[in-house]
Amino acid sequence: MSRLLAESELPVELSTFAAVDAAYPVEIAKCYEALKRRLPVLIECEKELSPYVYKSLRDRLKADGTRCLYLDGRAAADLPPPPQGAGLVATMIHQIREIVRGAVGERIVVLPHLDILGTSMGGGGLGSEARELIPLLYENPEVLWLGFKDPAFPLPPPIENLFPAREQIFGVPRDRLRYLVTQREARKLGRGGFDPYALYKHVSGVNAIRLRRLLGSLTGEDYPADAAPAIAQLRTATLTTDVELPQVDIDKDIGGYGPVKDRLKAEILQILAAKDQLSDPAAITRIESLIPRGMIFWGPPGTGKTLFAKAMATSLGAAVTIVSGPELKSKWVGESEENLRAVFMKARKSAPAVIVFDELDSFAGARTNQSSSSGVEHSMVNQLLTEMDGFRKEELVFVVGTTNFAESLDPALLRPGRFEFALHIPYPNGEDRRAILAVHDKRLGLKMTDEAMDAAVKRTEELVPGPSGGTHYSGDHLQALCRQLARMRMRENTNEAPTVATDVDRAIEQYLEMPKLTKHEELVVATHEAGHAVSALSCKHLSPIDRISIRGDIGGALGYVKYSDPAHRYVVTYSQLRDTICTLYGGREAEALVFNEISTGSASDVEHATRIARSLVENYGDGGTELGVAMWEHDRNTPISEAARAKIDTQIVKILETERTRCREILETQRPLLIAMRDLLIEKKVLDRKAFSHLTETTHG
Ligand code: ATP
Repeated sequence: MSRLLAESELPVELSTFAAVDAAYPVEIAKCYEALKRRLPVLIECEKELSPYVYKSLRDRLKADGTRCLYLDGRAAADLPPPPQGAGLVATMIHQIREIVRGAVGERIVVLPHLDILGTSMGGGGLGSEARELIPLLYENPEVLWLGFKDPAFPLPPPIENLFPAREQIFGVPRDRLRYLVTQREARKLGRGGFDPYALYKHVSGVNAIRLRRLLGSLTGEDYPADAAPAIAQLRTATLTTDVELPQVDIDKDIGGYGPVKDRLKAEILQILAAKDQLSDPAAITRIESLIPRGMIFWGPPGTGKTLFAKAMATSLGAAVTIVSGPELKSKWVGESEENLRAVFMKARKSAPAVIVFDELDSFAGARTNQSSSSGVEHSMVNQLLTEMDGFRKEELVFVVGTTNFAESLDPALLRPGRFEFALHIPYPNGEDRRAILAVHDKRLGLKMTDEAMDAAVKRTEELVPGPSGGTHYSGDHLQALCRQLARMRMRENTNEAPTVATDVDRAIEQYLEMPKLTKHEELVVATHEAGHAVSALSCKHLSPIDRISIRGDIGGALGYVKYSDPAHRYVVTYSQLRDTICTLYGGREAEALVFNEISTGSASDVEHATRIARSLVENYGDGGTELGVAMWEHDRNTPISEAARAKIDTQIVKILETERTRCREILETQRPLLIAMRDLLIEKKVLDRKAFSHLTETTHG
């Protein structure tokens, strides 16, 4: 079955009334049937639509003799006049009172502005109008009500409950679109026939009246070869405030993260693209039911979660709304569900749309115990799920929630049909960092040489320096580094020259507040780090050393030894852990050996070593003959006896002492290397593997 329609199949002319009739025949018929059965009806539609929907209904009712009384706040001929000076709302309430206390007969009483009358007040309370109105609405069960409300305004439940029949009219159903485009307008949208499905994607959230207005204002030639400019005209007009049409190319603007991109493409983008090629409505509906509507992008701050959401939107031609979870929550406390409803309404009107809830866990956190989740959070989650359930399958509205930890989310959110798709965006690895740096290098015209790029990739493997540092480099940090380089180049007037490796180091270190050590302090720190390094060189199960520094550029640490990424990340062996303990003592033992005195600088090393030794005994079966191979980890349900605890502690100390002694022996034998390494460190402050290789060849080996 083809989706393409010949021009002659489309209407020549179309009045606004006829368009509303043509767009919503099913909805209007349902309302009509309910009213015929004398059920009060509530129609939820945008304000501009309600007079037209009402007229369509009234015409049908009139045809079989039913009359309506329309209460829009103006004086009505057959009702007593309102008190002098009464405003719109007071007049409506006055008229409603007259009606429920008088005789209306078979007439249907129409309340076109029920939302204005009954808007609930913040904090879940009722406005004074609602309080006056509710008893009136229930006073006379003979009255048959037809109410209209705008979807942006919630109604207090007592008012909503008055209406057993409710109908929501939103956007335009896809299969009705063909009746809403005239021949003249279709000519502006391309040649070779009109494809309502292709148009639908761009205007699904626009109601029939706005759609007619937008189509009527289309300019441009007839039968253009390329429909894109005409579609773009329509698309821009559908955007409401606070939404943007992003321009982020998933391949060009996002560096690295190949597997993340592949998954996003495979699970969403390619499926939607395939759908666009289909012509069988049944097959299209089948695909639509399979596409995840909610997605979680999780990972540390600044790794590009929002950027990915924007790239996804760009590929879909979708608008993006970014909502901050904490901000929404603080508003929520005073203003009930309205905020969230408004967010969804706006997005749906601008569909295709992606709504990004940043820090979703701020209100949708896992409820670990009763006290940790407030009523506010609970109702926000419920409202979020209600809104997500409210989309039609064919509406292209996606919800992306970002969070640092997927497991921190309320599991109710993660069920199929909700946020069923979780995409992990971790800190970038070396390859990713190279690609991200390349994106910003190009954007900022840094002209990085290959060596500069290698240096930047290598240096950003370390933790972010500075007092606020201590985390790994994220995409955000890498962008900041490139911007720093760009500013430096501008200041130094070197925009035309390539960026070299030393520039990268300077950019990283330029404004770091490094501790100023005295000569003796520097000697101690250098001895300490050289001790770690030399002991590590004798431990065969450890990864090679990448870098040794005594520059004090990582938050809090005066010096460090950095090892390269282990070849096996997931399998950690017993020997590796023993070697790690041994090298952790390297700093302390070197100080003891050289100065016959130790500083407090090894406290965290000792702590770390003790933690590993404890794990070895308690978790990994290094219990010796007394404790055997058992899991001794402290567990509240199986208390450990005092005697066993004492044995555990003895075994831990035994392991630690064995490794400390081994370390001491290594350093004693390697003393010349220790001293040479220390002196080189004092001279250079930072050594990479190449810089000390001559020492290990000559002195060591
Ligand atoms: P947060 O969790 O703090 O909200 P986020 O994960 O949403 O952060 P973004 O705001 O998307 O991170 O990223 C911040 C900026 O970092 C982006 O605007 C972009 O310039 C840069 N960036 C992050 N990742 C990448 C990447 N992979 N490629 C290019 N630039 C990136």
